[in-house]
Amino acid sequence: MVAQIQSVTVLGSTGSIGVSTLDVVRRHPDRYRVFALAANSRVDLIIPQIEACNPRYAVMNEPVAAEQLRVQLQALGINGTEVLAGEQQVAMVAAHPEVDTVMAAIVGAAGLISTMAAVHAGKKVMLANKESLVMAGDLLMQAVADSGATLLPVDSEHNAIFQCMPRDYQRGLAATGVNKILLTGSGGPFRQLPIAQLHSVTPAQACAHPNWDMGKKISVDSATMMNKGLEFIEACWLFDARPDQVEVVVHPQSVVHSMVEYRDGSVLAQLGNPDMRTAIAHCLAYPERIDSGVASLDIIRTATLDFEAPDYQRFPCLRLADQAARAGGMAMAVLNAANEIAVAAFLEQHIRFTDIAIVIEQVLTAAPSIEPVSLLLVQQADQEARELARRAIQDL
Ligand code: NAD
Ligand code: MG
Repeated sequence: MVAQIQSVTVLGSTGSIGVSTLDVVRRHPDRYRVFALAANSRVDLIIPQIEACNPRYAVMNEPVAAEQLRVQLQALGINGTEVLAGEQQVAMVAAHPEVDTVMAAIVGAAGLISTMAAVHAGKKVMLANKESLVMAGDLLMQAVADSGATLLPVDSEHNAIFQCMPRDYQRGLAATGVNKILLTGSGGPFRQLPIAQLHSVTPAQACAHPNWDMGKKISVDSATMMNKGLEFIEACWLFDARPDQVEVVVHPQSVVHSMVEYRDGSVLAQLGNPDMRTAIAHCLAYPERIDSGVASLDIIRTATLDFEAPDYQRFPCLRLADQAARAGGMAMAVLNAANEIAVAAFLEQHIRFTDIAIVIEQVLTAAPSIEPVSLLLVQQADQEARELARRAIQDL
């Protein structure tokens, strides 16, 4: 028996995670009701979502898009949804008193303010927006502790780790018998491409991930393995792990989503088809289990599970993320900002794939080291790192 229907806000509803979230939510009308949807600018994508879920609010970050949405909803005779605009309103629907659960699935640093708003309001926060944790991990984890929010990892690896962790892991990894976390990653589309050819790969090739269907930014991050670097930092914050307690393992099949090694030699893994609806359903219903629409894993057909060490020469972004994690302080926010600018420039074909790491390394070297003691300082460092990255791109 379900006691109460959960009221859910989906931030980034028109993206890959947002669409998967609404798919799971719609399978369980007895459990979940969509309170608000938020997206950047794609009016054409949000209209059918509004028609299907009838939310109280729809927020477009871009004011022009919000105006278009208002006009189009009126023309369609849809008047049960109030249209709002701008970042503050995105944060408002994340923190609204009538909301129980927030899916934080905006891509990049743009998700920081609304994720923080949901955390401060003590919500159950399903975290897909790993960049907010990379930028402001200390502040975000402290806010979780202060507000009593429940932070549930949607990222498939972190969701797997969460499932394999002891229930009381928050007492500390050593105290609960955990030796280390084994963070798996597929190695992306260029795992075996001759290194000399990496400089000429196209955005389309970089976005064609062998196992996962994702947004463009995270797809490029997967191709450079910066995604695994960001996830390395994410794992350190979520599970209060030191960098030397997290080991990156390349696993091309993406069936083992990550592992936890215990002191007694036990290694627990979570397996499944590479479909984000498993992690989303796990977070939505936690600690219960609900149907996600994901096909049963055919372990016989899978047959082979390969594991190899990451190649830091091929994937310099992984090394840079590791360095930033060990440097601590603002280095992680700087890494994230520089990466966002470099990836956008690569997607616009202004720089080469191999320039992404070059730009990030230059910005990491040039950025001043300050302690991320407030959100304002993190946002300033983020802006400064973006400016440094733009200049580094001009000077290439
Ligand atoms: P996507 O590009 O498909 O979607 C991004 C969403 O964010 C869109 O709905 C877009 O409208 C919205 N958005 C962007 N800027 C915004 C702004 N300023 N204000 C409001 N909304 C804004 O990205 P995605 O693949 O769904 O990834 C979303 C997040 O989830 C990322 O942080 C990513 O790292 C993480 N994640 C994704 C996957 C995956 O399989 N796609 C897996 C793990 C983690
Ligand atoms: Mg992941």
